[in-house]
Amino acid sequence: MKIKRKMKKKKISKQLKIQKSEEAMIAGIIEGSPDAVGVAVVRLECDCRKMAAIDQEGEPASKLIIYRDSAESICDKCKKDDGAFSRVTEEFIHWVKNDINEADRKKILVKVFGSHTTH
Ligand SMILES: [Zn+2]
Repeated sequence: MKIKRKMKKKKISKQLKIQKSEEAMIAGIIEGSPDAVGVAVVRLECDCRKMAAIDQEGEPASKLIIYRDSAESICDKCKKDDGAFSRVTEEFIHWVKNDINEADRKKILVKVFGSHTTH
């Protein structure tokens, strides 16, 4: 039992580390994209991430970035399928500005992720 608990703890801290680097990445994208109202974040089951700044029309305001935490390159699966939708575990927009109303947020979400979005 002791071992099991230890392993679980390790997994949590790994997720926390990924979360932290994800936040740093988002901050970097925002800094480089003054027109951005938010950053679209797509989490993949393999722990790779796809991100792009989004402007108020829901158009990309930066290049699409795909990266893997503390790795030099993305995983082999992503190299092959470019982070296919079937492997997406989560997708959301990290909003930069808080003065966007709910209707506009929804419009941008649909535009960015399409109507397949679970949100
Ligand atoms: Zn991957």
